[in-house]
Amino acid sequence: MAWISDMLARGPTYSFEFFPPKNDTEQATLVRTLRELEPLTPSFVSVTYRGGRESRQRTHDLVAGMLRTTSLTPMAHLVCVEHSRLELAEVLVAFRKAGVENLLALGGDPPVGADAAGGELRYAVELVELARAIGGFSVGVAAHPGGHPASADLRSDRDMLAAKLRLADFAITQFFFEADEYLGLVEDLAARGVTKPVLPGIMPVTSLRSVPRMAQMGAAVPPWAIEHLQEASAHGGEEAVRRAGIELATDLCTRLMAAGAPGLHFYTLNRSSATREIYESLGLTPLDATG
Ligand code: FAD
Repeated sequence: MAWISDMLARGPTYSFEFFPPKNDTEQATLVRTLRELEPLTPSFVSVTYRGGRESRQRTHDLVAGMLRTTSLTPMAHLVCVEHSRLELAEVLVAFRKAGVENLLALGGDPPVGADAAGGELRYAVELVELARAIGGFSVGVAAHPGGHPASADLRSDRDMLAAKLRLADFAITQFFFEADEYLGLVEDLAARGVTKPVLPGIMPVTSLRSVPRMAQMGAAVPPWAIEHLQEASAHGGEEAVRRAGIELATDLCTRLMAAGAPGLHFYTLNRSSATREIYESLGLTPLDATG
């Protein structure tokens, strides 16, 4: 299996993120999506971890299944919350035994209503240390271009990120909508002496209904983009909004790559069409996947 850090050393990577299905309907959707996206030959794919003991098996089974039945290189996400240090070590060892060598180490969010994270490790950096102690992983971490919502200020958040990325191999960002937010993050890290690859996370807005959800999920859609989508809606309805959202995301990707981003990471929400369309607009679709 290939380490993501080695891929990044060779050139740009293009990757897709999925979440583990919770029921048969979600499973069927994901199987279809994987079948449609695999021909795009992504550098790697990542599988989220929903937190809690129950999610452990789902993420493990999906990444292990991908290794057995597809040509994809999977990366497993893992969060500190709700696990003891021993449990996290067990999960990491199980990943290794299944052949998973790429890990995204995350702090995670305490479940709604819980007063504390309930785990022994609190921050992602501690999980990076644990993964390093076990060994055999290429380790990524999360980065937040606008600052993590819980941090006191942007400067201290950047300091924490720089400390975390010094120990890790690469970072993947929360989604965002302006290239300057990403470039500001990379510049702030460089000012702290950290130049490890930071992959921008891309989430196209394909409907006006999803705009409020984006803010809850991590990054608000800027007013100029909402206006643009509303105009599209007034002239051409839902399909025009979808096309405008794909165009905005394609434009963002073009700017990022021109500015030297080490690759692109697409949040797919387990659907294939938006990612396929952006891929095609960027000219990334391999010839044998066009028919
Ligand atoms: P952390 O590095 O843990 O930091 C969290 C906060 O603590 C920040 O404000 C930081 O500044 C501060 N901090 C960090 N270290 C220290 C320290 N040593 N001392 C004091 N303060 C500190 N969540 C999931 O549940 N499952 C997933 O699969 C998942 N995947 C994600 C993928 C990506 C690409 C991204 C960007 C996020 C993902 N998340 C996921 C969300 C993530 O769990 C949340 O952002 C969570 O709130 C914090 O985890 P973190 O790893 O981002 O931050």
